[in-house]
Parts: sequence; C-alpha cells; structure tokens
Amino acid sequence: MKNNNELIFCPLGGSGEIGMNMNLYGYGEKNNHQWIIIDIGVGFVDDSVPGIDLMVPDPDFILQRKDDLLGILLTHAHEDHIGAIALLWPSLECPIYATPFTATLIKEKFREKKINIGSHLKIIELNGNVKIGPFDINYVTLTHSILEPNALQIKTPHGTLLHTGDWKCDTDPLIGKQMDEIKLKEIGKQGVLAMICDSTNIFTEGRSGSEKDVRESMLTVFENIKKKIIVTTFASNVARMETVFKCAEKVGRHLSLVGRSMHRIYNTARECGYLQNIKPPLDPRDAKKIPRDKIVYLCTGSQGEPLGAMNRIVNQEHPDVYLDEGDTVIFSSRIIPGNEKKLFKIHNQLVKNNINVISEENAFIHVSGHPGRDEMRDMYEWIKPKISIPVHGEHRHMKEHYDFATSLGVPQPMLIENGDMIRIAPGEPKIIDKVHNGKLYVDGNRVIDDQSRFLKDRKNIAHNGLMDVTLIISKKGNLDRNPIINIRGLPFNDEELDECFYEMEDEILKTSKAYSLNNKKHEKNLIDALKSNLKKIIYSKTRKRPYTNITLIRV
Ligand SMILES: [Zn+2]
Ligand SMILES: [Zn+2]
Repeated sequence: MKNNNELIFCPLGGSGEIGMNMNLYGYGEKNNHQWIIIDIGVGFVDDSVPGIDLMVPDPDFILQRKDDLLGILLTHAHEDHIGAIALLWPSLECPIYATPFTATLIKEKFREKKINIGSHLKIIELNGNVKIGPFDINYVTLTHSILEPNALQIKTPHGTLLHTGDWKCDTDPLIGKQMDEIKLKEIGKQGVLAMICDSTNIFTEGRSGSEKDVRESMLTVFENIKKKIIVTTFASNVARMETVFKCAEKVGRHLSLVGRSMHRIYNTARECGYLQNIKPPLDPRDAKKIPRDKIVYLCTGSQGEPLGAMNRIVNQEHPDVYLDEGDTVIFSSRIIPGNEKKLFKIHNQLVKNNINVISEENAFIHVSGHPGRDEMRDMYEWIKPKISIPVHGEHRHMKEHYDFATSLGVPQPMLIENGDMIRIAPGEPKIIDKVHNGKLYVDGNRVIDDQSRFLKDRKNIAHNGLMDVTLIISKKGNLDRNPIINIRGLPFNDEELDECFYEMEDEILKTSKAYSLNNKKHEKNLIDALKSNLKKIIYSKTRKRPYTNITLIRV
C-alpha cells in the first residue's frame, strides 16, 4: 500500500539564534499533519530594547493548527528549552511530557502563573517511552550541564529520527550516569534517517571535559584561599552545586546558598532524589556569624544579571552577604556572549576593591555543557545518520556544523533556519515551504509583537526624551489658562527649562491663533503643527527631538 504521508521538521526558534528553542515535527498527508513540539524556550534580549529581557518564539503557525497538536515534549530544564512553557501553553493546551526533574521545575512555573497544569503534565521516567499518534518516542538520557538531559529517538513509519537536545560526552558527570555510548551505537545500528543536532560549540576543538575534572581543580583552588569564598554559577548545574558543597566540606567550611533560583534548584534536586549526601546549607543570616575563613557562599548572578545575588553583593546591596579586602570571588561559568560588558564591570569593581577574581580566564573552574568537535565526531560515528540537520545555533554555527557533517561523509547534510518546513521523507529531504516565524517579547506580564508600536514609542522615549503638552480650551474656543508642559529626560537645567517653557508658551499661542479651536476638524492639523513647532524649539537648544504628546482638553 502506498504511504502518502510526509514526515516534516520545522523549527520555529533556536535555528538562527542561541536561545528560544522550539521545534516541530509533523506526520500525515500534505496540509493535514499531526504535530508534536519539542522544547519551548526563551531567549535573552540585548540592551537594544529598553525594558525587555526575554523573548519567545512566535507560535502562530502551530496555534493555527492546534487541533492537530498532539503534545509538547521537553528535552531538559534549561530556560532556552522550557522558559516559554507557562507563557505559551495556555493558548496551545496540549499534553506536556517531561522527565521528573524538568517536570518539577515547570510545575513551579505554572504555579507562579496560577495555572493548574494537573493531568496535562505527563512524567516520563528516565529512558522511558511514550507513543504519541504516529510518533513512538524513546527518551535517551545523555550528559549536559543540568540534571536529566535527554535526546529523543523518534520512530515514525518513514524511519527513525534522533533529536539530540543539548548534550556533551561527560565521562564523569558526577550526578547521573555517564554518556551511554553502547546505547547510542545500538540506536545507530537500528538505523537513523535524520539527526537533528546541537551546534553550540562546533567552533571548539577537542572535548568539553568533565565535571569531575572541575571538582578536582576547584578543590585545589579552595585549598589556597585564606579568606571568604564566594562562588557563582548557573543554579541549574546541580553537579557543579554539589562540587561546591563537597569542596567546602573538604576544606572545613560551611556553605550558604544565596539567591532564589539556588534555593529552588537545591530543593527540586533534593525532591527528585539528588544531593542526598551533603551537609545541609546554612541560611545566609546565620552564615554572617561564621568567620571569613570558614564559609563559602554559592550564589546566583553568574552572568551579571542586575537582580542576581552577585550583582547585589558587589554593589553592597545584599542584606546578608558582603565582601572585604582579600576575599575571593569565583565565576564558575562561561561568559555568555553579549554579557561581557555587564560581567567585566563586576570583575573590575571587585579588583578595584582588592577582592580576588577567579574566572575561566585564569583558572580551570568550568567546563562547557556542549560538545567539542571530537565529541561531535564520536556522535556522528555512533549514529551514522543519513541526513544531518544542524540546529541550536546562530547561522554561523549551523553552517560550520553543516561543513563538519559534510566532511564526515554524512550523505545529506542540510542547512536550514527558523520557519523552514523540511520534508524529511518520502523522497530526498527538501525545504518545501517557509512558514510564519519570528519572536515575541515578554514585557511585564504581556507577550507582545517585536514590531509593536509600544516598543517603538518606548525606544523613542528612551533615546530622545519626552515632551508632554496639555492645552485647555474654553467653551468659547479660547485657550484657557496656560498650557501644561512637561519635559522629561532632556539635558536642561532648571533655569534653561523655565526659559524654554516661556518660549514654548509663546509658540503655542502663536500656532493656535492660526486654527479655529472650536472646529474639531482642525484639531489634528493643530496638533501636528504644534508638535512640529515645539520640537523645533527643543531641537534648536539641545539637538534632540523628544517623543511628543499633545492633549487638548475642552472645558
Ligand atoms: Zn541546555
Ligand atoms: Zn540549549
């Protein structure tokens, strides 16, 4: 019998940027596919958009097909894979599948949003299986920089896919099992039609190294420090957290956790059966009473986040943790590109205050969670996919990964990006369509379009300042009282401002004389003329053109 069904892959996020991963797989007849989503993450926004920190993939394409959406599967609990779940799920409303640690963390996200996720959330045991419509999916535990990272082996009537998620080959991850080479070879032996694989560290030669190596090196570092130690790292790296606990204990120090997400991950990990054999942490309020040479703090804010504990400690804004001359701060994490300025500002401030800074620049206190080229080579050797689809990277990463796969002799490597609809089978793999894709910004408790006029206004105000003018018009159609003028964010001193107000009042009188204030039809023209003339006054003095708002009130 002829199979008219197509097997489709379509990334909506994460293929073209690092972050906000969202991948669709479809199966069915043309224009009548059934879909699953793998991961639904956030991305971090740089300083270019004032007031916005997070972005999420635009889910419109799958929203239009939500009746054919069978479920969301999560590979692991990093924010670039799960961060958007509680924001986007309410409009998707489908089952969610996750392993225990990931499930516990997303339950909390839903609780924060006051959404009862209840039976929609299905917990998959490690290396478990789930059948969803035409997809028969095996979770395959790999190693990464978080607990329970999973690849998904997706069996379909057209063949098997391997969606790697984020991974590395850690020969000693300290928590959880090491990379299961035998299992991956077995998957390869059974035949893999396409591998959809992480591209993050494709420019890195060699291997990423092991958490065990970091633990050994961290101990040596600790042994040589005489005064207070503050370590900062990603809270989600539980192996690293355990390393800091163990090293502290070995050198006879207490440990105190600082920052909300440190406590959240610590509690979640304990709840899921991890971190059982460690000395319990001290509350920072009690840790204050411990001598400097007997305490280690482990805190959030390794990327210099303004609200992270590290930034608050450095700025002496933290109620319980402070630094003195001769203390040491250890940054046990990579500097995520884009965060250099923020972080180096913190490093500089510390050094100026005679506090020692240890980072991956001057010590071995971190390994990456993503595979170097030697590990990538191993994976391709084990899996031997017919088709390689690089994802999880910027265009430059995916192109390098594409060239790498080509050099390894993968028969059909593919270069794709967000919105590409790829027919993996039947026939030769091919991009058959471009679907709507993009990003949405998380603004306060709203999700807004990146072209939103609110943002244009905000950027305009942030760059140019604000001028707000209210005119009060009497029944007879005259200007009643003086106009109310407010100017914000422009470099005037008080004297200049007063002078400017006089000039503006004169201008308002002059301009409004040219229009009949009683005639509502003239209103728009009057406002336009006022905007233009008043801006000219400001421009002549400051060379700035403020965002201008004019309101007419009739009494
Ligand atoms: Zn990850
Ligand atoms: Zn990731």
